[in-house]
Amino acid sequence: MSDPSDAFRAITAEDMTMPPGWSVSSGQTFLYTKEEQTLVQQARTFAQREIAPTAAAAHRRVKELKVTWEGRERRDRLRALAMAYLKTLAEAGMTGALFPEAYGGNGRGVVAECLVDEELAAAGHPADTIRSVSLTLGTVSILRYGTEAQKKRHIPPRLRGDELAALAITEPQIGSDTSRMETRATLRGDRWVINGQKRFITGGGLADHLTLFAITDGAVHPHKGMSTFIVPMDHPGVTIRRQIDEALMGDLIDNVWIELADVDVPRENLLGPLNGGYQVLMDELDTERVTYCMAALGSARRCLEVAAEYSTKRVQFKRPIATFEGVSFKLAEMYAALDAARQVTYRTAKMIEAGVPAQRESAVTKLVVAENVWKIVDHAMQVLGGIGYTSDFPVQQIFRNARLMRIGAGSDEIMKFLIARELLKEVGSRR
Ligand SMILES: Cc1cc2nc3c(=O)[nH]c(=O)nc-3n(C[C@H](O)[C@H](O)[C@H](O)COP(=O)(O)OP(=O)(O)OC[C@H]3O[C@@H](n4cnc5c(N)ncnc54)[C@H](O)[C@@H]3O)c2cc1C
Repeated sequence: MSDPSDAFRAITAEDMTMPPGWSVSSGQTFLYTKEEQTLVQQARTFAQREIAPTAAAAHRRVKELKVTWEGRERRDRLRALAMAYLKTLAEAGMTGALFPEAYGGNGRGVVAECLVDEELAAAGHPADTIRSVSLTLGTVSILRYGTEAQKKRHIPPRLRGDELAALAITEPQIGSDTSRMETRATLRGDRWVINGQKRFITGGGLADHLTLFAITDGAVHPHKGMSTFIVPMDHPGVTIRRQIDEALMGDLIDNVWIELADVDVPRENLLGPLNGGYQVLMDELDTERVTYCMAALGSARRCLEVAAEYSTKRVQFKRPIATFEGVSFKLAEMYAALDAARQVTYRTAKMIEAGVPAQRESAVTKLVVAENVWKIVDHAMQVLGGIGYTSDFPVQQIFRNARLMRIGAGSDEIMKFLIARELLKEVGSRR
């Protein structure tokens, strides 16, 4: 006999029984090679068994650490939490796809990285952004442009979770227009002296090193006078001006505004060719955009899964809400948006892996995924109604975090600008 109090019971997150990943179609299986399918299964099993069950507690722990501790102690504790997460992934072989075995990776490539990213993001651990910032944004440029000594020094400890890195492009005065960068690096003797400010740096406060962009020749166009540097965060002259994560709409373990005052690093901390930083930046952004897209799709997928299951359990007007076309069509749109976005991401990841120039395709991918992810999370919240607006279900948190996708790593408008520029170049060349 059913409990009479059930008549008054609301559906809670504990009623959700379908594991992450059930919504993935055989179409995806068709898209991926056998090896890729095996990897997806391994990553999904690992993420569901080892990560998803700990994610909610880890979010609570991050909040608690942020209100209890300040300064160095706060930083050390948050850093330890992020590193513990990375070590768990490293032990399971989930950190090294972008890097060859010689530097501690497994060399599976960009597509493999994206497949793992989707599964890890779907599990929802708060340190997952730090993982992607440290291992992708802060480190791929070292693999592509670093000297042998730089690769050996920096890549293996990051893949093991013993060190963290962050990427520093944005400044208080410049965001989309990187060509107006004001941070300067000047060669004095055998040392580069760096002065400037970097704002919105995710993981910067926890990092051992920044991969930092600065102007090295102010007399030419910035695209020909920008260079990249590896900057230790504990170097004299590097200070944190503001802990921005406390003011963000979404949840990030760490995001900071950094000041650099006469930071003198050895000459060998230059990464890649002198004045060749713009190309380093463009290459980094292509990879960053596809991996970010796949991670965002993982979180969006979780929203679809929760919304679909909730809609079969929530009863209104004496029927599960899934039986109303106004609800089920939203689920269909979410599924279509997810499926299409994943395919375009997979295509671009393949291009980048093959070394084919993919600036336009990366921009298309970032634009399409950002729009589709936003649609998916918005629909998910609508399907859950009022309870979706609370933190009882993961949808509210994913919704807040997803909004960044349309701004970070190049805004929607900048993606449109890049696509249009390439398109119009072709039109011009045919005249
Ligand atoms: C949470 C968070 C994390 C971040 N993490 C990092 C990080 O780790 N490292 C890092 O370096 N940066 C980071 N950023 C910075 C991020 O990449 C920038 O915010 C982004 O590039 C946009 O720059 P902006 O904020 O200065 O906006 P702006 O460039 O000032 O743009 C403002 C508005 O104007 C529009 N706009 C600008 N130029 C044009 C144009 N030509 N045509 C049409 N519209 C235009 C933009 O699309 C936008 O809508 C982060 C930002 C946030 C919020």
